Amino acid sequence: MATGTLLYEGKAKKIFSTDQPDQVLQYFKDDATAFNAQKRGTIVDKGVVNTRVSERLFQLLDGAGVPTHFIKRVGDRELLTKKVIIVPIEVVVRNVVAGSLAKRLGLKEGEPISPALVEFYYKNDALGDPLIADEHLRLMKLAEPAQVEQIKTLARKINEVLAPFFAERRMILVDFKLEFGLDGGRLILADEISPDTCRFWDQGTRESMDKDRFRKDLGKIEEAYQEVLRRVCG
Ligand code: C5P
Repeated sequence: MATGTLLYEGKAKKIFSTDQPDQVLQYFKDDATAFNAQKRGTIVDKGVVNTRVSERLFQLLDGAGVPTHFIKRVGDRELLTKKVIIVPIEVVVRNVVAGSLAKRLGLKEGEPISPALVEFYYKNDALGDPLIADEHLRLMKLAEPAQVEQIKTLARKINEVLAPFFAERRMILVDFKLEFGLDGGRLILADEISPDTCRFWDQGTRESMDKDRFRKDLGKIEEAYQEVLRRVCG
């Protein structure tokens, strides 16, 4: 149903216009990239999994009172969403030490973090999406101080909804990345929530069920994505 004009093509998604000026169509690709696109590949049917998982999680969050850009799923790989102005910040919420946090600070992977840590990264490929502090957000006018507080509150609330949802499905929500957008001045959750943007570990084996399988060449990538789909939407 991707019929409008291509407005933007990212690493994992294409955004198309629709006949409604305030709505866009997100098309989820199978292309996978890691390490700021230095590693590239394809994960078969990743786009289908990420579409369904995002749909389920946006519905869950909408139901919990978190404002999101989600309107409805309109195809196997397509979500209809509100058109927003993306705040150029990646918001990462961490419940367990992993990934860049372990590497940057020499912390032991797998240690629980409580209360959850909320971090900001400046969304800028040329700079490699650097970690930034609240003060830098203010300096660079990326967000107003009140918006920063609002983003932190929303990020914590989202974690409080998602972490138990995954625990019920025998998954540990290790960490995840969020993006927010402005919908006529109102901050709402945008982008996607999927195995591309979250770390999930199986509760029993603590094996990765997400894009880390691609990043670290762990094999059984498609199987892991399909298992996430089964547990989240099955
Ligand atoms: O690499 P790092 O440990 O900082 O990633 C934290 C979380 O944010 C992971 O779940 C990862 O999948 C996600 N992430 C993302 N897009 C990025 C960077 C990180 O979805 N550009």
